Amino acid sequence: MIVVMEPEAGDAAIAAVEAKIRAEGLRVHVSRGTERTLIGAIGDERKLSPAMFETLPGVERALHILKPYKLVAREWHATSTTVRVRGNVIGGNGVQVIAGPCSVETEGQMRAAAAAVAAGGARLMRGGAFKPRTSPYAFQGAGLEGLRMLKEAASRYGLPIVSELMDMRMLDTFLHEGVDVIQIGTRNMQNFDLLKEVGRVDVPVILKRGMSATIGEWLMAAEYIAAGGNHRIVLCERGIRTFETAYRNVLDVTAIPMLKRETHLPVIVDPSHAGGKAWLVAALAGAAVAAGADGLLVEVHPNPPEAWCDADQALTPAEFAMLMHKLAAVAEAVGRTLTGVPRTTSQREDLPVA
Ligand code: PEP
Ligand code: MN
Repeated sequence: MIVVMEPEAGDAAIAAVEAKIRAEGLRVHVSRGTERTLIGAIGDERKLSPAMFETLPGVERALHILKPYKLVAREWHATSTTVRVRGNVIGGNGVQVIAGPCSVETEGQMRAAAAAVAAGGARLMRGGAFKPRTSPYAFQGAGLEGLRMLKEAASRYGLPIVSELMDMRMLDTFLHEGVDVIQIGTRNMQNFDLLKEVGRVDVPVILKRGMSATIGEWLMAAEYIAAGGNHRIVLCERGIRTFETAYRNVLDVTAIPMLKRETHLPVIVDPSHAGGKAWLVAALAGAAVAAGADGLLVEVHPNPPEAWCDADQALTPAEFAMLMHKLAAVAEAVGRTLTGVPRTTSQREDLPVA
């Protein structure tokens, strides 16, 4: 059972709920978020009924959740959650695009990349400073210097930054350097200790899908973060492993409406790692927006052939600008707005007015 406390519920009200659960012989899990506290009862729930809690002060609702994931389940939260990143919203009616290079390389590269991201209309910038590479001999990322280069370049355009955290020992550094959104990569989706650590902080987390993870495993990974009290979670579909080898991964478009049904969390899509080729990005991105994605994570590089990592899938600044215009039209067709690109097909001067 989950007991949803009112946003203003104080410690005494929370303690009273905890005591009542314990008195029935069940264990308690308290998730204190910045907006509200959620209290879970763990054990034989048949002893509990919502009515036992709903009369207590500070309790908004109590309900049995049938799914194994509780806090992230749509069951108790019919409205979709939005995640705020310094005034930018992920979720809701807007479709938010996060763009930037796979990895931070040099100051010049980052400045050109930030200019391209901002010119295209995206409001958040990505860049990996700690890279999970298949080969130990491949470029591993520019590290702390890389985080600083990303922050400096993005700040010129007021763009919040998204960067991947691989090692919990770097979490304080990420916070100190002002990383606005922590990305947990596909290879770490079930690194439970890392999930617990990011669950303790009040920084939004993009949780990428493990390359062979089921929807259930992915949502349970998100539950780890929520259980720690961090409710600012965004799920990112980035392609899964199948028998197909013609492209890097298979974009699981089906996951988008399925997640929308199962969870209240925002869902974004990374078409770059899904397809692995720049020419595939527009088709996959369009499909994602049409299927209901709340945003995209797109790799853009000022000079893709020279990229130190994932060169094949990076868009040029010009390709990115074109993609944004196309996506604005797709978003409009499904009743949404591409954040940062208000100009819609219906407003184009070159089209005859009906
Ligand atoms: C990335 O975003 O650069 C990345 C490494 O992604 P993934 O974890 O999806 O492979
Ligand atoms: Mn990459």
